[in-house]
Amino acid sequence: MTTQARAAILRGVHEPFEITDVTLDDPRPDEVLVRITAAGVCGTDLGVQAGHIPFPLPGVLGHEGAGVVEAVGSGVTSVVPGDQVLLSFSSCGVCRNCRMGHPAYCTDFLDLNLIGGQRMDGSATITKDGLGVHGHFFAQSSFANYVLADARGVTKVDPEADLSLLAPLGCGIQTGAGAVLNVLRPEPGSTLAVFGAGPVGLAAVMAAALSGSTRIVVMDLVDSRLELARELGATDVVNSGSTDALQALFELTNGDGVTHALETTGSTRVAATAADALAPLGKLGLIGAPAAGSTMELDVNFMLNGRQVIGITEGDATPQLFLPALVELVQQGRFPLQKMITRYGFNEINDAAAAAKAGEVLKPVLHFEDLH
Ligand SMILES: [Zn+2]
Ligand SMILES: [Zn+2]
Repeated sequence: MTTQARAAILRGVHEPFEITDVTLDDPRPDEVLVRITAAGVCGTDLGVQAGHIPFPLPGVLGHEGAGVVEAVGSGVTSVVPGDQVLLSFSSCGVCRNCRMGHPAYCTDFLDLNLIGGQRMDGSATITKDGLGVHGHFFAQSSFANYVLADARGVTKVDPEADLSLLAPLGCGIQTGAGAVLNVLRPEPGSTLAVFGAGPVGLAAVMAAALSGSTRIVVMDLVDSRLELARELGATDVVNSGSTDALQALFELTNGDGVTHALETTGSTRVAATAADALAPLGKLGLIGAPAAGSTMELDVNFMLNGRQVIGITEGDATPQLFLPALVELVQQGRFPLQKMITRYGFNEINDAAAAAKAGEVLKPVLHFEDLH
C-alpha cells in the first residue's frame, strides 16, 4: 500500500519550494507512516536551499515534523496508529556512541539524516511519476502531509499536546535547550553567555532560566530579539553591534569572565570571542555550524586553566527522553515556546522561508489542516 502525499519539493539551490503530488513507499519493518499536522522550518532547511549545506536535489526537506501515526512497520513496538508523535533525527542504535546514550553522535548520523537523501540501502522513500526524489531528510522529510519516518526518530507525546506549537522541539529547540540542560549543565550561581538570539539561542535562554544560573547574558545585533530574550529569562542583554561583547562580559562578571558560553551564530570570530570570555574552568559549547573546513583561533595557554570547548549537535539529546520532558515544561508554562512561533499554512511555505531568512520571524511553523 503506497501512500499518496502532497510534498514541497525543492528542485535546486535558490529555487522556491513547489507543492506537488508524490508517492511514499510502504513502511519498512523499522519505519512509521505519519500524517503530519505541523512542521517547523529550521535553519538547516534554509541552509540547503541556500546551498550552504550539501543535500542532493530535487528533494523534500523538513525535519521538525509532528503528527499522528497512521501505520507502523512490522518491527515497530514503540508507537501504534493513532499516537501523537514528534519527529526528530535518526540513529543506528548499535554503534558505540548510540550505546553510550549519545545518538546525536551516531557514527552513521550524516548518512542517516543528511547527505544521503535516501535510506541506507540506497532505496528511495519518495517517488514522483515513478522516479526517486531525494527524501529521508533527518529520516522524515516532513515538508509533506504524510511522511515515512525511522522509528528511532519518532517520539510519542501526550495525546492532548498541541502539535502546532510543539513541532519545532524536534530539532532547533532541542538543540538549544539540550546544549544547556544536557551538556553545559550550569551550576547554581553560574553565568551563561549566549551568543545569538535566534530560535536556538532563545531555546537555550529558556532552558537556562530553569537552571540555577544567576546571570544569563545574551548577545545579538537585533534589539527586538534582545527584548524577547529578556522576556524569556535573560538577566542582561548586549547589542554586540554597538557594544564590545567581550568587554561587556568582563564588566558584568567583575573581571572574572563567564562560567559558561554558547555560540549559536556559526561565526568563527564570535566563537573565538566566546572562548576569550571564559573564566578558568569555563565551558564553551559550539552549536552554530560555519562552512566545512572552518577553523578558529584559540590561545592554548589561556585554555590550560581547565577551560573546555565542546561541539554540540541536537543538544546531545536522546529524543524519546528529552522531547517528552520539554513537552511537559511547555504545557506547565515554564518553557514559553509560543513566544517565538509564527504559524503559516503549508501552501505559504515560501513566505515562511523568506520571513525566516529576513529575520522577520524567529520560528515559522507550517500547519497542514487544509490538506487532510
Ligand atoms: Zn549509532
Ligand atoms: Zn534543524
